[in-house]
Amino acid sequence: MTQEKYQIEFQTLKKFFEKFCQDKHNNQQKTTKNLSYKDTEYILNLKLCQDCDELIEYSLDRLNQCPHETKPRCRTCDEPCYKPDQWKKVAKLMRYSGIRLGLIKIKKRFKIF
Ligand SMILES: [Zn+2]
Repeated sequence: MTQEKYQIEFQTLKKFFEKFCQDKHNNQQKTTKNLSYKDTEYILNLKLCQDCDELIEYSLDRLNQCPHETKPRCRTCDEPCYKPDQWKKVAKLMRYSGIRLGLIKIKKRFKIF
């Protein structure tokens, strides 16, 4: 995927994870992730609880390693790279936040899942 696409993808993850975590969990902490994709570095500031932080770390890893030049939605991917347990958690989270953040925006931006 392009660098621009990569940026949209991880910002979407951030938005969805933070929405879910703030509604459901406590004890969020600010963390900073250094991402790197195709020789470009990105800084991602997050405010999540420890569990969500670990889960987004996993999702970001999957995103970084996505082998598709044109990234399909994970839901329709031929070769899903998520482990079933993690996938269940992330799919639930994305669905929850997707509904609450407004479905119209999702049609445009919600390309990951
Ligand atoms: Zn959380």
